[in-house]
Amino acid sequence: MTEIVQFTARTLVTDKPVPFGAMIVETKTGKLLLKGLNAVAKENDPSSHAEVRTVRMACKKLKSPSLRGYTMYSTCEPCPMCMANLLWAGIDRIVYGATIDDANRHCRQIHIPATEVAERSDMTCEVVGPVERDLAYTLFTHPNMLRAFKAWGNASRSKHVSDNGKRAIA
Ligand SMILES: [Zn+2]
Repeated sequence: MTEIVQFTARTLVTDKPVPFGAMIVETKTGKLLLKGLNAVAKENDPSSHAEVRTVRMACKKLKSPSLRGYTMYSTCEPCPMCMANLLWAGIDRIVYGATIDDANRHCRQIHIPATEVAERSDMTCEVVGPVERDLAYTLFTHPNMLRAFKAWGNASRSKHVSDNGKRAIA
């Protein structure tokens, strides 16, 4: 987790800071396959979340649509899109740092926990987290990141928060 947080933190001093990074390692050996970052703004692609991009790059590298035998570490709990993609890829395990709720303090989220997406699928994937949550959350609270969230201009408040003062689904 420390490794992917440090890797992601490097973006905080660039003009396109992101708090979302992911890495894929061999489950058995822990050997690194690759790392990736969120590139929604860079690629003008709403699906370019760190986890989706990293799976995409990993499968290309392996020339296989399957990530069986691999584990992902992500700085944040995967959103439903990313978690679904991980399930389709058949990855063994996902370990995450900050939670969807943590991220939601700063940007919009879809409020379905990764464990729920996994439970409601026919696939098996171990969901582990939050792990080193405080460390991962420092990516969200860096001054440059806070400025960027404002520029993203997406209101940092979910409708669940603004409608009734608390999220309908915690
Ligand atoms: Zn996502």
